[in-house]
Amino acid sequence: MTKNEYDVVVVGSGPGGLASAIEAKKNGTEDVLIIERDTELGGILLQCIHNGFGVELFKEDLPGPSYAQRFIQEALDLKVDTLLDSMVLEATPDRRLFVTSRKGGIQEIQAKALIFAMGCRERTRAQIRLPGTRPAGVYTAGTAQRWVNVEGFMPGKRFVILGSGDIGMIMARRLTFEGAKVERVLEIMPFLSGLMRNYVQCLQDFDIPLQLQHTVKRIIGDRRVEAVETVAVDERFQPIDGTEEIIPCDTLLLSVGLIPENELSRQAGITLDPLTSGPIVDSRFQTSVPGIFSAGNVVHVYDLVDWVTQAGFEAGRGAALYAQGKLPVSTSTIQTAGGDNVRYVVPQRIDLEALAQSGIPLQMRARLPIEEPAWVEAVTNGQQITRRALPYARPGEMVTLNLRPDHADDLRGADTITLNIMKR
Ligand SMILES: Cc1cc2nc3c(=O)[nH]c(=O)nc-3n(C[C@H](O)[C@H](O)[C@H](O)COP(=O)(O)OP(=O)(O)OC[C@H]3O[C@@H](n4cnc5c(N)ncnc54)[C@H](O)[C@@H]3O)c2cc1C
Repeated sequence: MTKNEYDVVVVGSGPGGLASAIEAKKNGTEDVLIIERDTELGGILLQCIHNGFGVELFKEDLPGPSYAQRFIQEALDLKVDTLLDSMVLEATPDRRLFVTSRKGGIQEIQAKALIFAMGCRERTRAQIRLPGTRPAGVYTAGTAQRWVNVEGFMPGKRFVILGSGDIGMIMARRLTFEGAKVERVLEIMPFLSGLMRNYVQCLQDFDIPLQLQHTVKRIIGDRRVEAVETVAVDERFQPIDGTEEIIPCDTLLLSVGLIPENELSRQAGITLDPLTSGPIVDSRFQTSVPGIFSAGNVVHVYDLVDWVTQAGFEAGRGAALYAQGKLPVSTSTIQTAGGDNVRYVVPQRIDLEALAQSGIPLQMRARLPIEEPAWVEAVTNGQQITRRALPYARPGEMVTLNLRPDHADDLRGADTITLNIMKR
């Protein structure tokens, strides 16, 4: 039976939500509740039956459900309460939630501290304004993944995939395993948008062609997709006349980006970062509204689940302290900013006292690829604070630079720390 008041409430039971609930419990919080709209705990991992999860955290190469199960079991062993098949409809700045479910109707739950871990949703055809007719057979790659891996049916036989995101590349391999023909993957950018390891293991190993700087000009078909017309684009993403090609297919999958799910964050009055589409957070993943924390893909789109879990741990510790009235109030904070070739940086605010205690990882994405040895550096007032050598830098792979506790002294009195990625 769910109560109406909890110390910490977590919305979403993916790896971000599970890790934060576990850590809140381990840090002395009596009552922790996870609310999940799906009928099972685990989030998106439940449909990711391929391996590649946990390489950093466990030094093991696990399928998604196995990775999730470790945390589900731990949360249940720690007696975290769960409310499944229940959707949070509304959140207020004073941490009240309105939840709806078939069994319980509308329920109001008050939290001392709240953690948002709602993940992402996929960009759809409407959001990228794909021209052509509107036949059946145009799906997002994640929808197709759920059908094939969880519900057990194939969405088509002959595919074109638009976008070189990780879900699209993983689905290209999965559909090939199931006997489908994947004609090609098209990417509008001049570089890959997902991980290189997925390009090698999912496309190259199966001879699935990738065409960079190409897009779909038109979808052809009446009741069902019959073909797509593709076209090459120039550096300003304009179609190049004369490069059109008709590719017969019955299904077009879209892997054209993820959008953090922040409707609840907006309702709660949380300030969002236009660069990440997620909340502006400090190094404990506390948002601009005191007592509301965020973790995982809802903050920014991660490439590896291991970093989502670590962000969840941090948010869980912060929320536990807040709920017990022990979270220190920040006295000196400094902003982070993306400089040369850095699209965004998370966290956007650093508390110097927190930095002095335990160090802080700064995570960022490169704007453009550097396919040769590179540096990532942190600079403040024209002075380099620290730097790290990278073998390369690619927009599809997150870059981390760790600030050490002793860097807190170098940063005192500064307003901003700027991150740059450049050739070595
Ligand atoms: C197809 C795919 C393949 C991937 N492959 C890999 C890989 O090989 N290796 C790797 O390391 N990482 C991989 N990742 C990345 C990794 O899985 C994600 O980064 C991670 O799962 C994100 O976790 P999360 O907790 O932020 O969100 P999610 O796992 O998306 O969980 C969010 C949860 O919140 C729930 N929710 C949302 N809104 C509400 C609401 N209002 N009320 C109640 N519940 C709500 C959702 O139902 C969902 O269960 C992959 C991701 C995808 C999508």
